[in-house]
Amino acid sequence: MSELTSMTATALAAAVADGEASAVEVTRAHLDRIAATDERVHAFLHLDTDGALAAAAEVDARRTSGGPLGPLAGVPVAVKDVLTTRGTPTTCGSKILEGWRPPYDATIVTRLREAGLVILGKTNMDEFAMGSSTEYSAFGPTRNPWDLSRIPGGSGGGSAAAVAGRQAPLAIGTDTGGSIRQPGAVTGTVGSKPTYGGTSRYGLVAFSSSLDTPGPCARSVADAAALHAVIGGHDPRDSTSIPQPVPDVVAAAARGADGDLSGVRLGLVRELAGEGAEPGVDAAFRQALETLTKLGAEVVEVSCPHFGYALPAYYLIAPSECSSNLARFDGVRYGLRVGDDGVRALEEVMALTREAGFGPEVKRRIMLGTFALSSGYYDAYYGQAQKVRTLISRDFTAAFEQADVLISPTTPFVAFPFGERTGDPYQMYLADLYTIPSNLYGGPAISVPCGLSDGLPVGLQVMAPTLADDRMYRVAAALESALPPPQPPSI
Ligand code: GLN
Repeated sequence: MSELTSMTATALAAAVADGEASAVEVTRAHLDRIAATDERVHAFLHLDTDGALAAAAEVDARRTSGGPLGPLAGVPVAVKDVLTTRGTPTTCGSKILEGWRPPYDATIVTRLREAGLVILGKTNMDEFAMGSSTEYSAFGPTRNPWDLSRIPGGSGGGSAAAVAGRQAPLAIGTDTGGSIRQPGAVTGTVGSKPTYGGTSRYGLVAFSSSLDTPGPCARSVADAAALHAVIGGHDPRDSTSIPQPVPDVVAAAARGADGDLSGVRLGLVRELAGEGAEPGVDAAFRQALETLTKLGAEVVEVSCPHFGYALPAYYLIAPSECSSNLARFDGVRYGLRVGDDGVRALEEVMALTREAGFGPEVKRRIMLGTFALSSGYYDAYYGQAQKVRTLISRDFTAAFEQADVLISPTTPFVAFPFGERTGDPYQMYLADLYTIPSNLYGGPAISVPCGLSDGLPVGLQVMAPTLADDRMYRVAAALESALPPPQPPSI
C-alpha cells in the first residue's frame, strides 16, 4: 500500500499545498489502490478515472501558478451513487436508473469540485438508500474491509468501505435513518450526519425528503469536519436548506483534540443504553464512557420516553415519503423502460418497468407507504407517526436542558455476516434503532470508533441540538484523541 493512501485528508491537502506530493500523484495512488482491491471490496459502482486525473491536474496547475487552493484541494473523495454527477452514471443502486446520466451536478458535488477535491467515482449502496447492509444493491453487495465475509453497513456501505479500505480518504454519504453513521460504526470510520437542512439536498435523489441529509465519511474527526465545512451551508436551490452559516466545525474538532472535556455534560439516554445491544458493543461503549469521564466530562442520565416509538414512526414516515418520491420512476422520464412495443398501454409499460426495475425492499417500502397514506388509514398511521415525531423532538429538547450532547452506541451490533438479516426485514431495521431518533428530530449526530468487539469495530454516537454541529465534533474529537481509531487488517 502506498503511503499516500494511509494519510488523512488534512495531511494530504497539506502535502499538496506544500508541493511534497502532486494532486495527480495522490489521485493515482488511490486509483491504484482501488484497482488492487475493489474486485474484493466492491465499494465502487462507477469510476471516473479521466475526470479525476483531469481535476487533479487542474489543482496542480493552480498551485504552480500561485492561485488560491481550498483547504482540501487535491484530496480524492468518493461520492455515494445517490447524488447526481453531470454526465456520469447515477444509479442509486437500482436497475431502474441503469444507464441514466444526469444533466446536472448536485450542489454537494458542485461544492466538492469548486473546492478542488478530486471525485474518484460513485459508491455502492442499498437500492435508493433503503437498507443497512448494501445487500439490497441491484449490483451486488460491498464487502467490509475488516472481514470480507461481512457487511459494511448500509445504505452507504460503499462510501464507508472505500474510506476504511484506504481507497479514498474521504467520501460523501447520505443519512435518512442512519446510513452514514451505521456504516461508519461497523467499518471503524467516522460518519457524520449534519443538522437536517445544513447540507443541500439539491441533486440528491429523494428517498424521504423530510429526513435525507448528506454528510461526510472520513478516517478522522478533523477530516470529517473539514469536509463538512466544504459541503455545508445555505443553498437557495433547496427549499429546506437553512439560511445560516455552518458553525465552525473545524475549530470545534481542533479544540476537542486537546482532550479536555471539563464542564461538558454527556446525556446517557436511558432508553438507548443497553437496550438491544450485543454484549461486546455494550462493553466497548461503557469503556468509552469511562474514557470520556477521565477527560473531564460529566455523565448525566437522561430519559427520552418516546424513543422506543422511533423505529415504528420512521417506518411509516420514510416509506410514505418514498412512495410519493419514487412515483417519478415511471419508465418515461429516466433509465429503464420495459414492454414498450408500441401496442401496450402506457400504464402497463409503467407497471412492467417498475416490476422489473425495483428490488423487493423498495417494493415493500412503496407498498407500506402507499397503504399508510391511503384514505381511511392516513390518520391512523401517517398522522400518528407524525405526532410521535413531535414527541421525540420534545424528548430531545428536554434532554438538552440537562446535557450538552447525548450519547449512545451507534448501532446495536457489529458487522454481521452476509445473509444473516435479509430473511427478516425487521432484523435489518433494528440496525438503526439508535440512529433514527436524531433523524426524526433533525439534529446532528456523529459516529466515532470506540473500540473493538471480537476484533470488529464498534461506534459511539454523539447527538447534539439542531445547529450545534460544532459541539458534537468537539466531543467526538476528544474521544478520538484518547482512543485512537483501530487500524483495519490490510486487504
Ligand atoms: N437503514 C435505514 C433504512 O433502511 C436508513 C437508511 C438511510 O439512512 N438511508 O431506511
